[in-house]
Amino acid sequence: METDTLARSIPVGKHRLPPLPYPYDALEPVIGAETLRIHHDHHHKAYVDGLNKAELALAEARRQKDYDCVKYWENELAFNGSGHILHSIYWTVMAPEGEGGEPGPRTAREIGRYFGSPGAFCAHFVAATVKVEASGWGILVWNPAWGRLEILTAEKHQNLTQWGAIPILVADVWEHAYYLDYRNKREEYVRRWLDLINWHEVENRLLLATEGQLPLLSAGGYE
Ligand code: MN
Repeated sequence: METDTLARSIPVGKHRLPPLPYPYDALEPVIGAETLRIHHDHHHKAYVDGLNKAELALAEARRQKDYDCVKYWENELAFNGSGHILHSIYWTVMAPEGEGGEPGPRTAREIGRYFGSPGAFCAHFVAATVKVEASGWGILVWNPAWGRLEILTAEKHQNLTQWGAIPILVADVWEHAYYLDYRNKREEYVRRWLDLINWHEVENRLLLATEGQLPLLSAGGYE
């Protein structure tokens, strides 16, 4: 049991940049090849490198029993670790225009149950994502503590969340994600971005998230 758990963990300082699941120009014209290349090869890579560096620095601090810089490295750990996680999801929840399909049965059911309709979900998601202050993300999450979906936003990568929420669909609204293609028109980017959603992957992620064994909070008395 313990061996299995260890075998499935990523060693300290050994995170790797995942390959893009499609060519750089696959998302054109919604996202240009140059944007995608810089975003993946440079921005995402910097988060992977930063995460590895923070983990190694903290391991060294434990060895040395020297925690003078622990606050700095904990900040780096949260920022770069969250950046790595969100970007890794971002690439997979996009697909070339016309290939992403429609929301799967579980996705459609959960969106309907919580947001009322696909239109209400989209309106809320676009509005929340467009309004993120400075750099951040719009995120559809499954919150296992409530047993339902929610829309959250993140400032930078790590600020503003509900702990334990599992990101299902993430939209990057750092300027590096859209500025070459849309300049300051963030809303136009987000609206076009909806056409790239890979609903097959969203359904996969939702099914995996809802299979979790964590109990509902205050579950007694609810339907
Ligand atoms: Mn980004």
